[in-house]
Amino acid sequence: MSLADRDLAVIWHPYTQMKTAARPIPIVRGEGACLYSEDGKKYIDAVSSWWVNIHGHANKYIGQKVAEQLLTLEHVIFAGFTHPTAVKLAERLLAVLPSNQRKSFYSDNGSTAIEVAIKMCLQYWNNQGKPRTKMLAFKNAYHGDTFGAMAVSGRSAFTAAFDSLLFEVEFIDLPDASNIEDLKSQISDLKSELACFIFEPLIQGTAGMIMYGAEYLDELLEHCITEGVLTIADEVFTGFGRTGKLFACDYLTQQPDIMCFSKGLTGGTMALGLTTCTQQIYDAFLSDDKLKTLFHGHSYTANPVACSAALASLDITLQHATMQNIRRIEARHSAFADKIKAHPKVRTIRQTGTIVAFEWEIGDNTSYFSSLRDRLYQYFIDAGIILRPLGNILYILPPYCITDDELNYIYAKIEQALEEI
Ligand code: PMP
Repeated sequence: MSLADRDLAVIWHPYTQMKTAARPIPIVRGEGACLYSEDGKKYIDAVSSWWVNIHGHANKYIGQKVAEQLLTLEHVIFAGFTHPTAVKLAERLLAVLPSNQRKSFYSDNGSTAIEVAIKMCLQYWNNQGKPRTKMLAFKNAYHGDTFGAMAVSGRSAFTAAFDSLLFEVEFIDLPDASNIEDLKSQISDLKSELACFIFEPLIQGTAGMIMYGAEYLDELLEHCITEGVLTIADEVFTGFGRTGKLFACDYLTQQPDIMCFSKGLTGGTMALGLTTCTQQIYDAFLSDDKLKTLFHGHSYTANPVACSAALASLDITLQHATMQNIRRIEARHSAFADKIKAHPKVRTIRQTGTIVAFEWEIGDNTSYFSSLRDRLYQYFIDAGIILRPLGNILYILPPYCITDDELNYIYAKIEQALEEI
């Protein structure tokens, strides 16, 4: 039996419609921006394997550090114990994060980093005897698949089966010149009930790579600070260079109270989640009263091997050569965007850092489930490129080590698809 058949017999894949599930492609090896299947076919990973991979597959430097850690200390309970790798990682990250971030709380994926942030905010108010339970989020937001993360995400086909069970969230439009004053007064009206405002800075990835400006987000954050509303920046997707700066929040003048990280944190090597916060948040939990404790700890919290991958990835991220690669991808994407922007099938093309996205003109049927999405996906798979359109939105989001030749090949295939599909 082939690997794909054995897989279908025993595995339930995420985001896969069961009856019409396509046969999964067995991948046996990775190198740089490429993945290789069991039958020897090469695929350029133009989506960085669900946006996690920043330094290429099977990165030798990260692999070496992980192997050393694995043979030194693979895991230790992180309640009542600590280990050098977790401490060093927290020290190094806090040194490059916005200056108000003072404490690190580890978990093990993006959704759990969000859960921790939400619980920190709810309990922050509770611990002070001033409970607040309402949250503010952007329409179409996506913050993960666990219940709290789903609740602060926009209601959609992803949440439909659970909508009645999700807690109360006030959804607002993305800020711009026309609505900023209205949004601010909405926040002022709700302020005494609001536990927090959670947002994806600059880009709503899952919503379709929707991009919005730092200027009005800054104004919104400033208003939240004035009104005493805690803010959570979800940098799970945007962190570690994706937007052209180390963090998307580096484009802002205001600093969030809490930040969430995962995906690129370990360079895409393994699962790790991180929630950082200000001293003020931390101090609200500092007490002799046991009930003020943040009772949240996953078995694999601060796993030493994952922390060692994150440290190694950070070494590479902070190298000058990596920032040069990010600049190179930005420039190449922008030239490509200029080249195709007038094509009749290209509706709007947008770019932030290493992400370029455009809407494929298909009239009004822009659903995530549009049939065009599946045709495009298969077209690029056949061409040896992994691109996963979000409905009719096609985006390129490569590892930073992707070569110019690989980028050129992706651009050429997209241009060809614009003519052929
Ligand atoms: N927040 C954002 C902005 C994300 O894009 C994602 C994942 N796509 C998550 C949270 C959830 O992360 P994870 O898949 O690791 O749970």
